Amino acid sequence: MIKKPLPIVIAVLVFSFIFIVGFSHSIHETPKKMALNDNKKEHVQPSTEIKEKLPIIISPDNIDVLVNKEYGLPEDYAPNDLVYPNIPFLFNEKIEKRMMRKEPAEALEKMFAAAKLDGICLAGVSGYRSVARQEVLYNAYVHRDGVEAADTYSARPGHSEHHTGLAIDVSGITGEFAVEDHFADTKEAAWLDKHAHEYGFIIRFPKGKEEITGYKYEPWHIRYVGTEVATEIFNTNSTLEEYYRNYFA
Ligand SMILES: [Zn+2]
Repeated sequence: MIKKPLPIVIAVLVFSFIFIVGFSHSIHETPKKMALNDNKKEHVQPSTEIKEKLPIIISPDNIDVLVNKEYGLPEDYAPNDLVYPNIPFLFNEKIEKRMMRKEPAEALEKMFAAAKLDGICLAGVSGYRSVARQEVLYNAYVHRDGVEAADTYSARPGHSEHHTGLAIDVSGITGEFAVEDHFADTKEAAWLDKHAHEYGFIIRFPKGKEEITGYKYEPWHIRYVGTEVATEIFNTNSTLEEYYRNYFA
């Protein structure tokens, strides 16, 4: 057996020590994340994990999660309870955008059934959207209209409510004016405006709140938050942003 010279043994030990300490330091350096949506009783703490200088949500599964231009979902987030709601869509394929999370899917089925009793036949246009799909769409809009215009109507990847599985765009069953400004003048939009909150949905980007939500009026984009929060937002004629602002005030 060959005996190693002492200086080499010491060098190896020192190197190993530096490596282990350095490595363990890096894996234990877990960044603090945004407390928002985790425990509403706690005030919002500034995040120390900054991605593109924006805070990351730590409880993306919360039904009343706030996702907007400021608060983004974790990069690898995907809901784990996606289902196909039993409602008509404007297309037949069983694809990603036909899905929603279980709770909003059930609420949506009830809402569509209630609308039908009032003579309003609704259809789904686009529900869940993975971050990969959002990236494709956003980039295409930027390519077509430029960043500034695209940002008024399309979310950046990680910042779309469709990514939560809690939001869906709806139209009338004929698909006329689907995801178009003129949808605002339809009886379907009027019905949604009046009744969506009864089933836990809000018109997420209302008229006159563009400065607060960061998006133009979208009468077709409904977001599930549960009936309690939805009713509060409906009664106060406000937005999810204002709801949180008032909650923490
Ligand atoms: Zn939408």
